[in-house]
Amino acid sequence: MPSASRPTTWLVTGSSRGIGFEIVRQLVDSPNNLVVAACRSPEKATALHGLKATAKGTLHLVQLDVSDFDSIRAAAKPLEAILGDIGLDYLINNAAIAILDTAFTLDPEDLLRSVRTNVAGPALVAQICLPFLNKSERKVILNVSSTGGSIATAETVGAKLASYGMSKAALNMLTVKQKAERPDIITITLCPGWVKTDMGGKEAQLEPEESVSGILKVITSATQEDSGKYLRYNGEVIPW
Ligand code: NDP
Repeated sequence: MPSASRPTTWLVTGSSRGIGFEIVRQLVDSPNNLVVAACRSPEKATALHGLKATAKGTLHLVQLDVSDFDSIRAAAKPLEAILGDIGLDYLINNAAIAILDTAFTLDPEDLLRSVRTNVAGPALVAQICLPFLNKSERKVILNVSSTGGSIATAETVGAKLASYGMSKAALNMLTVKQKAERPDIITITLCPGWVKTDMGGKEAQLEPEESVSGILKVITSATQEDSGKYLRYNGEVIPW
């Protein structure tokens, strides 16, 4: 565990709104947290700037578009300045897009866009964060997935969100491959539940507060035995 003399360090992608923003909001409420809030357009992230006024922890904003590999590589420099000495305890790959398509109607470009944003980007983010994770004793990667990536339940969920489901199934595989390559890192793929955000819509079951407090409980209490698991925000196991 991180020592008392250094903060617990976090990097969250897609932090401008929705679940990513709520993760940052809850984290900066603790004086012991140093949070790197990564987002596509920091200059437009008014809610994140608003948090700076009330944050008890330390908040840094870093530009990072997970669909733009040059942007991810360029983030290594500001991340080195922030995390180079202290390391990264928790990487939360949260940013994603969801397209309402089906297998027989999808535009293959949309499928590629989904895979690029939802799995290739997170894979590269983990690669550029690896030197910082290596400096931490904690080393947790949380890939925010979806029950939509479960092949076991795909038929009952129905035809919609085909590109999204395929990209999240691939993200689940990435998580297991990350564990296989680096058993010393705790890698978890997790569904936040159906959450009231722009993506989840107003009909969703969960407020972001409830989903995120569950997510943070799951990852802060995760042990090596949990690595490679596919979990829900409340800790339940999801069938692959
Ligand atoms: P939202 O659509 O509400 O927010 C998406 C966030 O991701 C925004 O901050 C957005 O930034 C960011 N983002 C999108 N594309 C990129 C990109 N290329 N680079 C950087 N940031 C990007 O989604 P949620 O908050 O609901 O979803 C968060 C995670 O939870 C996702 O991984 C999603 O798949 C997963 N999830 C959500 C569910 C739900 O019910 N809400 C259900 C299951 C899974 P910007 O403001 O710049 O667009």
